[in-house]
Amino acid sequence: MKAWIFAVGSELLTPFRVDTNSLAITERLNAIGCDVRFKAVVGDDVEDLRVLFERGIGEVDLIVCTGGLGPTEDDITRDALGRALNLELDLDERILGSIRARFERRGLVMQEINRRQAMVPRGAMVLENSRGTAPGLWLEREGTGILLLPGPPREMQPMLERIIDERLKARAGGRGLFRRVLRITGRPESDVDAVAQPVYAKWTSAPVPIATTILAKMGQIELHLTADAAGEEEAAAALESAVGELVDVLGPSVYSVDGRGLEEVIGDLLRERQLTIAVAESCSGGLLSSRITDVPGSSAYFDRGLVCYSNLAKIEWLGVAEALIAAHGAVSEPVAAAMADGVRERSTTSVGIGITGIAGPGGGTPEKPVGTVAIAVVTPEHRSVRTFLFLGGRDMVKFQATQAAMNMLRLLLADGPPVHRD
Ligand code: AMP
Ligand code: MG
Repeated sequence: MKAWIFAVGSELLTPFRVDTNSLAITERLNAIGCDVRFKAVVGDDVEDLRVLFERGIGEVDLIVCTGGLGPTEDDITRDALGRALNLELDLDERILGSIRARFERRGLVMQEINRRQAMVPRGAMVLENSRGTAPGLWLEREGTGILLLPGPPREMQPMLERIIDERLKARAGGRGLFRRVLRITGRPESDVDAVAQPVYAKWTSAPVPIATTILAKMGQIELHLTADAAGEEEAAAALESAVGELVDVLGPSVYSVDGRGLEEVIGDLLRERQLTIAVAESCSGGLLSSRITDVPGSSAYFDRGLVCYSNLAKIEWLGVAEALIAAHGAVSEPVAAAMADGVRERSTTSVGIGITGIAGPGGGTPEKPVGTVAIAVVTPEHRSVRTFLFLGGRDMVKFQATQAAMNMLRLLLADGPPVHRD
């Protein structure tokens, strides 16, 4: 199956808004063996979009178009498709009723312009929008399936899933691309690739071929494994054994093989062991607390996070000795450890973390250049204290500091004997 994707919206042609929908759609289509051959970002111009529809209809198996289904004048997708196919638009009373009811539930009166969202090209199937007002539409013409989805990512996703399940999966016959992602931290990309490449190179010619790509992101490396298989079961078996081989050679630097982020991995470790955690952050400015609390249910283990930026804050809030700062400097392992101890003792949690460093661009010295970060992870029985030198701007140093801190915690919990609550 071959597909085209159109992302409609003049804002997507500015530097301020990125078309992410086409990536999400591509991933889902690839997963059912559908190839994306062309995609376009189109402004809110009814004639431009009409021309594209006319080019694609009868030419490809599937056109997925997102955006431009809103109520305002610049939402032109319905009209463009109507023009391309010479179709009348009819007012659908059911859609109108559900849009009106949606407004009423929020104590609002529906505006007249919202009637536009209830206009349906004759013969199209309406896809209910559980998360917004604009319904999606599905239509088939000249062998081309045409799917119109609203622009907001969280609204378009459930509709896409529905069409994939109801219409597209069957056409693809079960064959498809199936993906697994391995996440690695604490090792440079070249090192990971040197170890992993000899393992994954041979999979391209295996009975179930697996293609591997390596993606270096801030503070982590991802290995994307894509199996081309006749079905889900066949793919799962091949991927499982491939993942196993990689974990064998890469060892504990692999922190996730199931899509979980590092914050979820440490959250699960803390929850399983019924541990609690408090953090004291200097250069990361609260980012570690923010990332830990990005995980739903983190209140089960996250007690508090203090941002102690100044020396005075470290002394007053954490009980770090002034003499310790004077002797070693605020960015030092003894101070990081004292911060971790201080926040842990004051909050009576099982784990304490302290982060202190130089995010830059100023403040570096020859002994402690910009990017120097000292991190301590402590429990009553264990301490792990390290100094890192991170490259990049402020945001990268801050992010990598939180990544390293969570990874130290993960390794401490994974390797060490169980830690008990105080
Ligand atoms: P629309 O359906 O055109 O009214 O789009 C509503 C909102 O959805 C836009 O303001 C964007 O925030 C978002 N949006 C539209 N198209 C995309 C896209 N291709 N990728 C990501 N977000 C989008
Ligand atoms: Mg728009």
